Amino acid sequence: PVLIEIRDLCACVDDQPILNGVNLTIRAGEIHALMGRNGSGKSTLSKVLAGHPAYKVTEGSVLYRGEDLLPLEPDERSRIGLFLGFQYPVEIPGVSNLEFLRVSTNARRLEQGMEELDTFAFEDFVRERLGLVQMDPAFLDRSVNEGFSGGEKKRNEILQMALLEPLVAILDETDSGLDIDALRIVSGGVNQLANVDNATLLITHYQRLLDLIQPDYVHVMAAGRIVRSGDKALALELEQRGYEWVDRELDALE
Ligand code: ADP
Ligand code: MG
Ligand code: MG
Repeated sequence: PVLIEIRDLCACVDDQPILNGVNLTIRAGEIHALMGRNGSGKSTLSKVLAGHPAYKVTEGSVLYRGEDLLPLEPDERSRIGLFLGFQYPVEIPGVSNLEFLRVSTNARRLEQGMEELDTFAFEDFVRERLGLVQMDPAFLDRSVNEGFSGGEKKRNEILQMALLEPLVAILDETDSGLDIDALRIVSGGVNQLANVDNATLLITHYQRLLDLIQPDYVHVMAAGRIVRSGDKALALELEQRGYEWVDRELDALE
């Protein structure tokens, strides 16, 4: 089944158009990679999908499992199974990481008709999932992301994803700032969470991530649109030939 269907999506920030007609269909069981130069609109697309209030949709539509996603608040989107891993995860001083994870996990569980987990049951659940990202339990007792290194923040995000079990996970440059070991751990977590019922949209600049998480489809974004789609061979071609090659082809079309 189709999980997300994006049609002719246009969006702006402060009346400045950023997305200029994005089309993308994501089905259950698929892993998509979204590539493209800095400033092409990748993070904007992920923020629009997550419902960030600064981004106004001016045209087009987004259906999530056949229903209009755009009227929903960000927390509703999260509850129904959309997950966004941010390029720059926020620190929330004074809020315990464990409690933060418990509240968001329970909101999602309630939506799915599952029982809420009390503190003790949640600790068991979280400890079981910690292994996926090889995270030290000590991180649960700290404030959300406060003083976490770049790699620890990304692992904490994958932990949250492992607890929420989203249907569509959008991971914005989850690989940026990771050393080789952290990259392996994070991509191993993503691979273990991917299944026939869910889908992943990986935003990345690097082939090294796509060596570890094999995408079914690769898309290139430029000037707020997806200008080219292919399979994993497209990412290899980009690695060798750079984005100028895509630009030249586009120019030739015009
Ligand atoms: P990418 O993730 O592909 O590097 P972004 O989506 O972050 O690109 O940015 C696309 C363009 O939109 C850039 O030119 C960026 O400066 C602009 N942009 C994004 N967010 C904002 C914002 N909040 N205010 C002003 N401009 C923005
Ligand atoms: Mg960028
Ligand atoms: Mg970005």
